[in-house]
Amino acid sequence: MSDIIKFFETFEFNISKKGHIFVISGFSGVGKGTIINRILQNNPNIYFSISYTTRQKRPTEIHGKDYFFISKEEFKEKILNDDFLEWAIVNEEFYGTSKTQVLEKIENKIDVILDIDVKGAIQVKSKLPNFTTLIYIIPPTGLELLNRLKNRKTETEEQILKRITTSLTEINYINAYDYIVINDDLEECIKQVQIIIETQKLSSKVSTLYISKRILKE
Ligand code: 5GP
Repeated sequence: MSDIIKFFETFEFNISKKGHIFVISGFSGVGKGTIINRILQNNPNIYFSISYTTRQKRPTEIHGKDYFFISKEEFKEKILNDDFLEWAIVNEEFYGTSKTQVLEKIENKIDVILDIDVKGAIQVKSKLPNFTTLIYIIPPTGLELLNRLKNRKTETEEQILKRITTSLTEINYINAYDYIVINDDLEECIKQVQIIIETQKLSSKVSTLYISKRILKE
Protein backbone atom coordinates (compact mmCIF):
# COMPACT_ATOMS: atom_id res chain seq x y z
CA MET A 1 0.00 0.00 0.00
CA SER A 2 1.32 3.43 -0.84
CA ASP A 3 2.49 5.65 1.99
CA ILE A 4 -0.15 8.26 1.07
CA ILE A 5 -2.96 5.75 1.47
CA LYS A 6 -1.54 4.54 4.79
CA PHE A 7 -1.26 8.14 5.98
CA PHE A 8 -4.84 8.96 4.86
CA GLU A 9 -6.18 5.95 6.72
CA THR A 10 -5.17 7.54 9.99
CA PHE A 11 -7.21 10.70 9.44
CA GLU A 12 -10.18 11.49 11.66
CA PHE A 13 -12.47 14.40 10.78
CA ASN A 14 -14.36 16.38 13.38
CA ILE A 15 -16.47 19.48 13.06
CA SER A 16 -16.76 21.98 15.86
CA LYS A 17 -19.48 24.63 15.88
CA LYS A 18 -20.43 27.46 18.13
CA GLY A 19 -24.07 28.32 18.63
CA HIS A 20 -25.83 30.30 15.91
CA ILE A 21 -28.02 33.40 16.17
CA PHE A 22 -31.32 33.37 14.28
CA VAL A 23 -32.83 36.83 14.08
CA ILE A 24 -36.54 36.80 13.32
CA SER A 25 -38.01 40.16 12.36
CA GLY A 26 -41.24 41.16 10.72
CA PHE A 27 -44.03 43.66 10.50
CA SER A 28 -45.91 44.22 13.73
CA GLY A 29 -48.86 41.80 13.82
CA VAL A 30 -47.41 39.42 11.23
CA GLY A 31 -47.50 36.46 13.63
CA LYS A 32 -43.81 36.42 14.64
CA GLY A 33 -44.65 35.56 18.25
CA THR A 34 -46.66 32.48 17.26
CA ILE A 35 -43.97 31.36 14.80
CA ILE A 36 -41.19 31.79 17.37
CA ASN A 37 -43.17 29.92 20.07
CA ARG A 38 -43.73 26.98 17.74
CA ILE A 39 -40.06 26.92 16.70
CA LEU A 40 -39.04 26.93 20.39
CA GLN A 41 -41.48 24.10 21.15
CA ASN A 42 -40.10 22.04 18.27
CA ASN A 43 -36.46 22.80 19.20
CA PRO A 44 -36.14 22.72 22.99
CA ASN A 45 -32.38 23.29 22.73
CA ILE A 46 -32.77 26.73 21.14
CA TYR A 47 -32.64 29.63 23.59
CA PHE A 48 -34.90 32.67 23.25
CA SER A 49 -33.13 35.89 24.19
CA ILE A 50 -35.34 38.05 26.42
CA SER A 51 -34.95 41.71 25.48
CA TYR A 52 -34.96 44.79 27.67
CA THR A 53 -37.55 47.44 26.89
CA THR A 54 -38.84 50.74 28.22
CA ARG A 55 -42.33 50.24 26.79
CA GLN A 56 -45.34 49.61 29.03
CA LYS A 57 -46.04 45.98 29.94
CA ARG A 58 -49.22 44.64 28.29
CA PRO A 59 -51.69 42.90 30.67
CA THR A 60 -50.83 39.40 29.38
CA GLU A 61 -47.05 39.90 29.51
CA ILE A 62 -44.72 38.68 32.27
CA HIS A 63 -41.56 40.52 33.38
CA GLY A 64 -38.57 38.24 32.78
CA LYS A 65 -40.45 36.02 30.35
CA ASP A 66 -41.62 38.31 27.55
CA TYR A 67 -39.29 41.23 28.30
CA PHE A 68 -37.37 42.81 31.12
CA PHE A 69 -39.40 46.00 31.57
CA ILE A 70 -37.09 48.77 32.78
CA SER A 71 -37.16 52.58 33.00
CA LYS A 72 -35.51 54.90 30.44
CA GLU A 73 -32.89 55.81 33.08
CA GLU A 74 -32.00 52.16 33.67
CA PHE A 75 -31.85 51.58 29.92
CA LYS A 76 -29.51 54.53 29.36
CA GLU A 77 -27.24 53.26 32.14
CA LYS A 78 -27.05 49.89 30.42
CA ILE A 79 -26.06 51.64 27.16
CA LEU A 80 -23.26 53.44 29.00
CA ASN A 81 -22.10 50.13 30.56
CA ASP A 82 -21.94 48.58 27.06
CA ASP A 83 -24.40 45.88 28.19
CA PHE A 84 -26.17 45.56 24.84
CA LEU A 85 -25.21 43.50 21.79
CA GLU A 86 -27.58 45.87 19.97
CA TRP A 87 -30.23 48.38 20.89
CA ALA A 88 -32.69 50.55 18.98
CA ILE A 89 -35.61 52.90 19.37
CA VAL A 90 -38.77 51.27 18.02
CA ASN A 91 -42.14 53.04 18.10
CA GLU A 92 -40.54 55.69 20.35
CA GLU A 93 -39.45 53.17 23.00
CA PHE A 94 -36.02 51.66 23.70
CA TYR A 95 -35.41 47.94 23.05
CA GLY A 96 -32.12 46.09 23.55
CA THR A 97 -30.50 42.64 23.56
CA SER A 98 -28.25 41.60 26.45
CA LYS A 99 -24.71 41.02 25.22
CA THR A 100 -23.71 38.50 27.92
CA GLN A 101 -26.94 36.51 27.58
CA VAL A 102 -26.30 35.89 23.87
CA LEU A 103 -22.49 35.55 23.76
CA GLU A 104 -22.48 33.06 26.63
CA LYS A 105 -24.97 30.85 24.79
CA ILE A 106 -23.16 30.83 21.46
CA GLU A 107 -19.82 30.12 23.19
CA ASN A 108 -21.54 27.12 24.80
CA LYS A 109 -22.78 25.87 21.39
CA ILE A 110 -26.38 26.85 22.09
CA ASP A 111 -28.41 28.43 19.27
CA VAL A 112 -30.26 31.64 20.05
CA ILE A 113 -33.40 33.26 18.60
CA LEU A 114 -33.72 37.04 18.69
CA ASP A 115 -37.05 38.77 18.00
CA ILE A 116 -35.74 42.22 17.12
CA ASP A 117 -36.34 44.99 14.58
CA VAL A 118 -34.34 45.74 11.41
CA LYS A 119 -32.02 48.29 13.03
CA GLY A 120 -31.04 45.78 15.69
CA ALA A 121 -30.76 42.93 13.18
CA ILE A 122 -28.27 44.87 11.06
CA GLN A 123 -26.14 45.66 14.15
CA VAL A 124 -25.99 41.97 15.17
CA LYS A 125 -25.14 40.86 11.61
CA SER A 126 -22.34 43.41 11.34
CA LYS A 127 -20.86 42.40 14.72
CA LEU A 128 -21.16 38.61 14.28
CA PRO A 129 -21.58 38.01 10.51
CA ASN A 130 -20.64 34.31 10.53
CA PHE A 131 -22.85 33.50 13.48
CA THR A 132 -25.98 35.35 12.43
CA THR A 133 -28.82 34.52 10.04
CA LEU A 134 -31.49 37.14 9.42
CA ILE A 135 -35.04 35.99 8.65
CA TYR A 136 -37.82 38.45 7.82
CA ILE A 137 -41.50 37.47 7.99
CA ILE A 138 -43.96 39.37 5.80
CA PRO A 139 -47.75 39.18 5.50
CA PRO A 140 -49.39 38.19 2.19
CA THR A 141 -51.21 41.54 1.93
CA GLY A 142 -51.45 44.87 3.73
CA LEU A 143 -55.17 44.31 4.31
CA GLU A 144 -54.55 40.97 6.03
CA LEU A 145 -52.00 42.57 8.36
CA LEU A 146 -54.38 45.42 9.24
CA ASN A 147 -57.13 42.93 10.05
CA ARG A 148 -54.80 40.90 12.29
CA LEU A 149 -53.70 44.05 14.13
CA LYS A 150 -57.31 45.17 14.64
CA ASN A 151 -58.48 41.70 15.74
CA ARG A 152 -55.82 41.22 18.42
CA LYS A 153 -57.20 44.36 20.15
CA THR A 154 -53.95 45.12 21.99
CA GLU A 155 -53.35 48.51 20.33
CA THR A 156 -55.37 51.67 19.85
CA GLU A 157 -56.06 53.03 16.36
CA GLU A 158 -53.25 55.54 16.90
CA GLN A 159 -50.79 52.81 17.93
CA ILE A 160 -51.80 50.74 14.88
CA LEU A 161 -51.07 53.74 12.64
CA LYS A 162 -47.65 54.11 14.32
CA ARG A 163 -46.85 50.41 13.81
CA ILE A 164 -47.92 50.44 10.14
CA THR A 165 -45.76 53.52 9.56
CA THR A 166 -42.79 51.67 11.15
CA SER A 167 -43.47 48.64 8.93
CA LEU A 168 -43.39 50.84 5.84
CA THR A 169 -39.96 52.25 6.75
CA GLU A 170 -38.68 48.69 7.48
CA ILE A 171 -39.40 47.66 3.87
CA ASN A 172 -36.26 49.58 2.81
CA TYR A 173 -34.04 47.31 4.89
CA ILE A 174 -35.50 43.91 4.01
CA ASN A 175 -32.81 43.27 1.38
CA ALA A 176 -30.23 43.09 4.18
CA TYR A 177 -31.94 39.88 5.34
CA ASP A 178 -30.76 36.40 4.36
CA TYR A 179 -34.29 34.99 4.04
CA ILE A 180 -37.77 36.44 3.50
CA VAL A 181 -40.71 34.20 4.40
CA ILE A 182 -44.39 34.98 3.68
CA ASN A 183 -46.80 34.09 6.48
CA ASP A 184 -49.78 33.22 4.32
CA ASP A 185 -50.28 29.72 5.70
CA LEU A 186 -48.94 29.52 9.29
CA GLU A 187 -47.94 25.83 9.15
CA GLU A 188 -46.09 26.32 5.86
CA CYS A 189 -44.33 29.40 7.24
CA ILE A 190 -43.18 27.52 10.38
CA LYS A 191 -41.95 24.66 8.18
CA GLN A 192 -39.92 27.07 6.07
CA VAL A 193 -38.33 28.75 9.10
CA GLN A 194 -37.46 25.29 10.49
CA ILE A 195 -35.78 24.34 7.18
CA ILE A 196 -33.77 27.59 7.22
CA ILE A 197 -32.57 26.85 10.77
CA GLU A 198 -31.55 23.29 9.93
CA THR A 199 -29.84 24.28 6.68
CA GLN A 200 -27.91 27.09 8.30
CA LYS A 201 -26.62 24.81 11.02
CA LEU A 202 -25.07 22.58 8.33
CA SER A 203 -23.33 25.47 6.62
CA SER A 204 -19.56 25.18 6.38
CA LYS A 205 -19.32 28.89 7.21
CA VAL A 206 -20.16 28.18 10.83
CA SER A 207 -18.00 25.09 11.21
CA THR A 208 -14.37 24.58 12.08
CA LEU A 209 -12.87 21.42 10.67
CA TYR A 210 -10.38 19.53 12.81
CA ILE A 211 -8.25 16.80 11.34
CA SER A 212 -6.59 14.61 13.89
CA LYS A 213 -4.64 11.40 13.74
CA ARG A 214 -6.71 8.34 14.51
CA ILE A 215 -5.06 5.65 16.59
CA LEU A 216 -5.43 2.60 14.40
CA LYS A 217 -6.31 -0.63 16.12
CA GLU A 218 -4.25 -3.62 15.12
P1 5GP B 1 -43.41 44.83 20.70
O1 5GP B 1 -43.47 46.11 21.45
O2 5GP B 1 -44.62 44.64 19.81
O3 5GP B 1 -43.17 43.65 21.61
O4 5GP B 1 -42.14 44.90 19.75
C1 5GP B 1 -41.99 45.97 18.86
C2 5GP B 1 -40.79 45.73 17.98
O5 5GP B 1 -39.61 45.77 18.75
C3 5GP B 1 -40.80 44.38 17.29
O6 5GP B 1 -40.48 44.60 15.92
C4 5GP B 1 -39.70 43.61 17.95
O7 5GP B 1 -39.09 42.71 17.08
C5 5GP B 1 -38.75 44.74 18.34
N1 5GP B 1 -37.86 44.35 19.44
C6 5GP B 1 -38.13 43.58 20.52
N2 5GP B 1 -37.05 43.43 21.27
C7 5GP B 1 -36.04 44.09 20.65
C8 5GP B 1 -34.64 44.28 20.93
O8 5GP B 1 -34.08 43.81 21.91
N3 5GP B 1 -33.95 45.03 20.04
C9 5GP B 1 -34.49 45.58 18.94
N4 5GP B 1 -33.71 46.27 18.13
N5 5GP B 1 -35.79 45.41 18.63
C10 5GP B 1 -36.56 44.69 19.48
